[in-house]
Amino acid sequence: MTRALYPGTFDPMHNGHVDIAQRAASIFEELVIGVYDAPPKKLLFNTDERVVLVRQALAHLPNCSIVSFTGLTVECARSIDAQVIVRGLRNVADFEFESQIGLANRHMASDIELCCLLSSTEYIYLSSTIVKEVANLDGNISAWVHPVIAEAMQQRYAENAATVPPVETSKQKGVTKSRGKLTHHG
Ligand code: ADP
Repeated sequence: MTRALYPGTFDPMHNGHVDIAQRAASIFEELVIGVYDAPPKKLLFNTDERVVLVRQALAHLPNCSIVSFTGLTVECARSIDAQVIVRGLRNVADFEFESQIGLANRHMASDIELCCLLSSTEYIYLSSTIVKEVANLDGNISAWVHPVIAEAMQQRYAENAATVPPVETSKQKGVTKSRGKLTHHG
């Protein structure tokens, strides 16, 4: 029996992630999603929240379970007896990143294989960062995430807007949303 670990931050899980999980779950007898506990990134959802959202997004996959983990991915793989680590590749940047991490992981754990699945064309541009930026600017993210996740994001941004007062410069007077890569910079 081959068990595979698909690790990531999943803040939040989007349909590009779901697509990789579905395809991995059809290749391997068991798939475990590893939600990384403490990435060096500013998170929208805490670890428990991300686990719950991943569970809901992947409820249709009977051979898929979810764990959270800290520390090395290879140690997580060992602790759950996974023989394979699954990652998704969108572009050359992902390839460079994954090949470097993959070789370091092989150095530490040569018994654990890396399986990189190419993103499906409809999700190549998709990232959690893009989903968050569009949601934060009240854009429609329904094609990108499970409805439960869209709702959780809407709620979180509403909570954040209620608790964090917007910083206003004279130039931005009246602007309450933070500006990111998807807003006009002219
Ligand atoms: P990490 O912080 O580990 O990169 P992410 O949640 O951003 O966590 O991504 C987890 C995995 O999913 C990575 O292998 C990443 O390359 C892959 N991935 C992210 N977005 C997509 C996508 N649109 N299509 C396919 N794979 C993706």
